[in-house]
Amino acid sequence: MARVVQKFGGTSLADIEHIRRAAQRAVAEVKAGNEVAVVVSAMAGTTDQLVAWVDEIAGRDDSAEYDSVVSTGEQISAGLFALAVESLGVPARSWMGWQVPVATEGGHGRARIQKINAADVVGDMEKGTIPVLAGFQGIGPDRRVTTFGRGGSDTSAVALASALKADRCDIFTDVEGVFTADPRIVATARKLDRITYEEMLELASQGAKVLQTRSVALAMKHRVRLQVLSSFLDTPGTLVVGEEEIVEQEIVSGIAYSRDEAKITLLKVPDRPGVAAGIFGPLADADINVDMIVQNVSEDGSATDLTFTVTRNDFGRAQEVIEANKKSLNYQSLILDSQVAKVSVIGVGMRSHAGVAQRMFQTLSEKGINIQVISTSEIKVSVLIAEEYTELALRALHTAYGLDAA
Ligand code: ASP
Ligand code: MG
Repeated sequence: MARVVQKFGGTSLADIEHIRRAAQRAVAEVKAGNEVAVVVSAMAGTTDQLVAWVDEIAGRDDSAEYDSVVSTGEQISAGLFALAVESLGVPARSWMGWQVPVATEGGHGRARIQKINAADVVGDMEKGTIPVLAGFQGIGPDRRVTTFGRGGSDTSAVALASALKADRCDIFTDVEGVFTADPRIVATARKLDRITYEEMLELASQGAKVLQTRSVALAMKHRVRLQVLSSFLDTPGTLVVGEEEIVEQEIVSGIAYSRDEAKITLLKVPDRPGVAAGIFGPLADADINVDMIVQNVSEDGSATDLTFTVTRNDFGRAQEVIEANKKSLNYQSLILDSQVAKVSVIGVGMRSHAGVAQRMFQTLSEKGINIQVISTSEIKVSVLIAEEYTELALRALHTAYGLDAA
């Protein structure tokens, strides 16, 4: 007997017929002799509508009332899912985050799960009832409903799987699994059978949208075996596991991209201690996340240029912060560019192989694509390029690293 958590995303619960089919998967797991707990997201499009209503009135995304509104989509789908399971002859019940409880800390709209008291959920499973948890929601120290950020029901599923010491956490979605690159752009992209937590974490944080980044970090920390698979097919998906479970490791496992980038360059800032601190301090105070940074060496030791990137959402605010500090930063002028994209190649094999970055630079140069900024980590090389070359770069790199489907 295995203990399994099944999580269904919004497209897998798009209407009553979809909910019925998803419920059949849960029932099949129970009939196979396994214990199953289900985590649901809101029906497709619901959360967007709820957020839009809040924005129309208040335009704020960090309040308790935001959470009390946007969490309701999951209440609907959890109840409907439990009804669908019962209609198939198996007992079920829905659980809201506060009922379990899923205790959280941190602010509204971006709460972190602190503890899940899984005793009652286990009780359900032991007596053959399928517990259906509303994902994306918990209860804060102020006893109010909290939510975990968009896509947060993935994190609910992983946290529940960890609390239940589940053998597996299946994330049912509308794609077959994790691909070497976005198959809508790279026609030769392949589904990966396995990927390491670290690679998945980089892929998710570098723009692949298949799992919420936080959920992957949590799975890695608690060693939850994740499977990403399609709810529309009966084929195995991609297993996200520890490195020790992967026998033959590719050097590069995947290529990610993000268009959610904007670049700011300060021309001729003084080249002396404290300048970087003077720029990034006020940005941090304004809660603006800076991603890539390059600073040049000055020719004569007096002035240099400094470039950094932020998300497009923060672009306007970042510009305001820099301009508000123009006097003390003492730069000559600003260059602003939001027509940029970041392309990243990712693979744990990079640790033991030289020349991975060089192949990226060579490939891009052969296509005449200029690299604007470079950043690297142990298992990733990212470059910033003009947005219009995103597709060309992805396809060329996919071929260059030998990732194309045979
Ligand atoms: N329903 C929430 C959202 O759309 C949470 C989720 O789907 O994971 O972001
Ligand atoms: Mg999702």
